[in-house]
Amino acid sequence: MYIELHCHSHFSLLDGASTVEQLVEAAHNAGMGGLALTDHNGLYAAPQFFRTAKEAGLKPIVGAELTLEGSFHVTLLVTNSTGYTNLSRLITRAQLAGSKGDPKLTFSDLAERNEGLICLSGCSKGETPSLMLQGRKDEALKAAQKYRSVFGSDRFYIELQHHLHPEDSRLCRQLAEMARALGVRTVATNNVHYVAREDHRLQDILVCIRNRVTLDNSAGFRKPNSEYYLKSADAMHALAHLPQDAISRTLAIAEQCDYDLDFSSYRFPDFPLPEGATAEEYLRRLCLEKARQRFGELNNTLMERLDYEFDLIRGKGLFGYFLIVWDIMEFARKNGILAQGRGSAASSLVAYVLGITPVDPIRHKLFVGRFLNEFGVPDIDIDISTNRREEVIQYVYEKYGREHAAMVCTYVTFRARNAVREVGKVLGLPPPVLDRMAKSLSSYSAAHAIDDLKEIAEFRGYLGSDAWGHFVGMCRKIADFPRHLSIHVGGMIIASRPVSEIVPLEWARAEGRVVCQWDKDGVDDAGLIKVDLLGLRMLSLISDAAEFIEEQQGTPLDLETLPMDDPAVYEMVAKADTIGVFQVESRAQMQSLPRVKPRTLEDLGVEVAIIRPGPLQGNMVHPYMKRRQGIEPVQYLHPLLEPVLEESLGVILFQEQILQVAILIAGFTAGEANKLRKAMGRKNGFVELQKWRGRFTAGAQVKGIGETTANKIFDLIGGFAEFGFCKSHAMSFALLCYRSAFLKHYYPEAFYCALLNNQPMGFYQPEVIINDAKRHNVTILPVDINKSLWQCGVEDKRIRLGFRYVKEMGEDRAGKIIAARLRGAFASLREFCIRTRLDKESIQNLVAVGAFDGIERSRRHLLWELGALQIAGVHGIDLCVSEKVALDDMTVKEETMVDYSIQGFSARRHLIDEYRERLRSMGAVGSSQIERSVSGKSVRIGGLTVCLQMPPTAKGFAFLTLEDEEGLTNVVLRSDVYSEYRQIVRLEPLIVVDGTVQKEDGVTNLIAKRITSL
Ligand SMILES: [Zn+2]
Ligand SMILES: [Zn+2]
Repeated sequence: MYIELHCHSHFSLLDGASTVEQLVEAAHNAGMGGLALTDHNGLYAAPQFFRTAKEAGLKPIVGAELTLEGSFHVTLLVTNSTGYTNLSRLITRAQLAGSKGDPKLTFSDLAERNEGLICLSGCSKGETPSLMLQGRKDEALKAAQKYRSVFGSDRFYIELQHHLHPEDSRLCRQLAEMARALGVRTVATNNVHYVAREDHRLQDILVCIRNRVTLDNSAGFRKPNSEYYLKSADAMHALAHLPQDAISRTLAIAEQCDYDLDFSSYRFPDFPLPEGATAEEYLRRLCLEKARQRFGELNNTLMERLDYEFDLIRGKGLFGYFLIVWDIMEFARKNGILAQGRGSAASSLVAYVLGITPVDPIRHKLFVGRFLNEFGVPDIDIDISTNRREEVIQYVYEKYGREHAAMVCTYVTFRARNAVREVGKVLGLPPPVLDRMAKSLSSYSAAHAIDDLKEIAEFRGYLGSDAWGHFVGMCRKIADFPRHLSIHVGGMIIASRPVSEIVPLEWARAEGRVVCQWDKDGVDDAGLIKVDLLGLRMLSLISDAAEFIEEQQGTPLDLETLPMDDPAVYEMVAKADTIGVFQVESRAQMQSLPRVKPRTLEDLGVEVAIIRPGPLQGNMVHPYMKRRQGIEPVQYLHPLLEPVLEESLGVILFQEQILQVAILIAGFTAGEANKLRKAMGRKNGFVELQKWRGRFTAGAQVKGIGETTANKIFDLIGGFAEFGFCKSHAMSFALLCYRSAFLKHYYPEAFYCALLNNQPMGFYQPEVIINDAKRHNVTILPVDINKSLWQCGVEDKRIRLGFRYVKEMGEDRAGKIIAARLRGAFASLREFCIRTRLDKESIQNLVAVGAFDGIERSRRHLLWELGALQIAGVHGIDLCVSEKVALDDMTVKEETMVDYSIQGFSARRHLIDEYRERLRSMGAVGSSQIERSVSGKSVRIGGLTVCLQMPPTAKGFAFLTLEDEEGLTNVVLRSDVYSEYRQIVRLEPLIVVDGTVQKEDGVTNLIAKRITSL
């Protein structure tokens, strides 16, 4: 018998070539009773490994392979909870002592935290084996003695690996002899890097990506053969030079490893309470006090809801958690940082009265069971103004201590584009071909990317070749592999004990910031609760716009007390005049707004929720639209559904409705219903969901609902899947949608300026925003060396572009200009050069976008002068400069082109202005004329592609947004048209479309027939 004790998953980043699931399954199939996972310097996969191993009936053994000083490897296995704590701290120490991706641990660190750990001497890079391999027997012995002195002969084993390399038999024999002499035992492992022999090809590719070499040049980096797969007991016993007892000893070692990843003792730090009060008493007191401030006298409905929520919070011991979140929100409020709770938490009255969430759950009839129920623990997600989020994070670190708080990571994985690029590079495919391939992909998933490429004529020539087959296979296999770690958008763990005892910490990329090794799923699998402190740029936008408004009108704009029923605001939204407006600016939203015509905050909530993958998949959108427009009557599958589905006209739109339907129709508890909802969100959601069908129909029967109807209702739920919004979330977002629409309508300069200052955000490029602003009669002033700041600003009702939009500028260079300007305005280019001492390229870019127009109108002359100054040295008196050379000014067209290439847009003109003459001669019309055309008319239009989408739900249709100087046009490409013209559509920025105008319910589309490049 044999259990593998040294095994790498793909969380040994760019080294392991199999997933945790694949390894667990293979170990199970090979008849192993357990498996140890020993990824390099990390416990990334520990929670997932525990979950999948237990599901498969396999004993999970947690461990890691650490890198010691001198690049020596050592294999460590956890035997108990002390061992786990020690391992987690050791990894943290190693990760933080080394640089990113290059962890280092000293032997004395290891010695200090050896308790609860079993130590195996390691692979051929282990200290003892590598010395032995070099023939330095005495030193090898000394090294082994050193480890034995720390771990004792009961917890230190000489690791024997045999991969059929020429030297392996000798090495195993010598190591076994040495072990005998030392009185320690041997153990066999296979240093597994993949499940099956053929996977070594993928492992080679990963190693090449890590070392940035092509496969052809990888000899020194790759493993010499394919023996590093998960071998069965038989395969291990067949290796003649491995002692039998070393193989069977793996079972005894596995037996000693008796640790369960369990954080039930984990808790939040104690919140500092007033003397004598418990967390419950304090929270209740706060809630009642604040509820009275909001509602006045508290009626029965309010009291019952508070009591109900209090019971649930007590049941989970979450009083401290709510206090911590409340305290974070108080900090934000006191410091003028916009922040609001999102997600299911917005359904909680406790969260609302504490000021954590912005929407009144009673008034908007929000169902709390999705957030608080008898199962699971809730996450509270807080959206914070992006540009001030850091202050809030620092507050948490300071309040609870740096040791006790940590950011959750995310794994950057291989998706279609980077898989094609990186695998292709390793295989030596020509870079220009790879570039075109990557840009041609319409799929995000690497697994599907290749099927996608097959459709394209220019790549068809490759299809038959072996190389192509290999390339394709590797891209499929590498799909979704973790590549490296980065910081999660906002997840934070706060704990009463040092976080590094729970999960190892490591450097995030750049920033000098530390993250923990688990992502949000890992944190969830381990049963930890996190607080999500998310940056939301829309909050920054609103807060910036409010500041501009206050500067201009002298009085602050109170967003809290805005009237929420302004018809002019809703009218603008209903016309789909929504570029920049929160959540309703996408093409799909713009298609639906004129039909739905939202008139209230609730309507906006529906609108935010409805144009999403969930409802689209469930085919809820069309019935809802028709019912809303009065084309189809509102109907319910069962009268019992009416109270729950009334607000959404009989269709299911919100996650809460799923829960409520399950409760009403089938008598589920809130917790059961939430499990049902979660089942739908799993990868194999459909299968998971079917497990609930029996429970559902049986429950319905008790309520006197026939099986046919019950099944229909169940299918309705099933069609919805996990993707939908919860209503509480939609309402929080609806509020921001309304506020941003209000700003756009009444304070366009402030709105667009704040929008430009918070890029990238939302759906559109700055180019589109600038042109939309111009169409709303907002004047855009060019960058000016004497007037611009880093950010854009409002100059009496006009927007002055900031230096941030000039290529190669950067905030530091802008800062130098502004600092130099404090001593007076610049009067000449020469003076500017002397006083700012900026590099030539950035000055050149400033000249090119017209930043010196206030001093000298001719950009070309200034560029000449800059060159002359460069040669003469700025102090070189006027010699060259005085010799004026006769140069033609740039034409308007040249200026526009330069603006686009350096700024991405032009403050003065639209790119299509320059093509208008030619377009007219081709018989093309402008976008405003398409708006005025009748349905069915054939037209030609030219423009700039600003957005291309292929939603997975659209059956191969592609949607293109084309912009010209007059506005935007929606172009629809049927799948056959898309396949024919996809390379033009994907790779050419300026195109001409021939098509037919289609008008429906106030929405205009152009159905494309033919597309050419302009
Ligand atoms: Zn190793
Ligand atoms: Zn290893």
